[in-house]
Amino acid sequence: MDMQDTVARLKQGIDTMADEVKLQDLILRSLRDLRAEFRQSSDRFCPNLIAELQRTARLAEAVHEFRDAVDDAADARTRDEAMDVAWQLESLRARLWPPMLARRLDKELRELAERAASLPEALTLKRGAIRRRIVMELESAAAPCTKCGKCVVLRETAEGAFWGCSAFPRCFSSRRLKRDEWKSLESAH
Ligand SMILES: [Zn+2]
Repeated sequence: MDMQDTVARLKQGIDTMADEVKLQDLILRSLRDLRAEFRQSSDRFCPNLIAELQRTARLAEAVHEFRDAVDDAADARTRDEAMDVAWQLESLRARLWPPMLARRLDKELRELAERAASLPEALTLKRGAIRRRIVMELESAAAPCTKCGKCVVLRETAEGAFWGCSAFPRCFSSRRLKRDEWKSLESAH
C-alpha cells in the first residue's frame, strides 16, 4: 500500500475508532509498514510526519496500558482494588487523546465506579479469611463427638455457634463451645 494511504487510514482510524483493540492493531500495523517504508526512502518523511508518528507510537503504548487496566478492572475483587484501577485509568487520560478513546475511558471509569460500590472492602475480606482460619484451628483442636467419635464441625445459626457432629444427619450429637473457644471465635470480629 502507498505510504500516503497508510498515513491517511491511520489518521482516520485514530479519529473514528472507538474499539481500542482494533485501533491498537491498526496503529501497530501502520507503524510497521511505515518503518519499512522509512528504511527504503526516508526522504519522503518530513519532520512533521515523523513527529506525528512518534506521537502515534506513544498512543499505542497508552492504549496497551488502557487494555491492561480494563482487564484489571474486570478482575477487581475489592473496593480498594477497584480504586487502584480507577487511578491507573485516570492517569492515562492525558495520553489517550483521541476523542473516541477519551469517551471509552469515561465509560470504563463510570462502570468501575458503579461496580466498586457493590464490592467488599479489603478489610472485610481479610476479616473473613482470619475468621475461617480460626474456625479451622478450633475444629482441628476440638475433641471428637462423644456419641460416635467422628470429628466435630462448627455450626453457626442465628442463635449462636455450637459444635455439631460431622456425621450429621446420622448423628445428632451436639455440644456448646467452651469459654476459650468462644473467645477465639469472638476475636475474629
Ligand atoms: Zn457423632
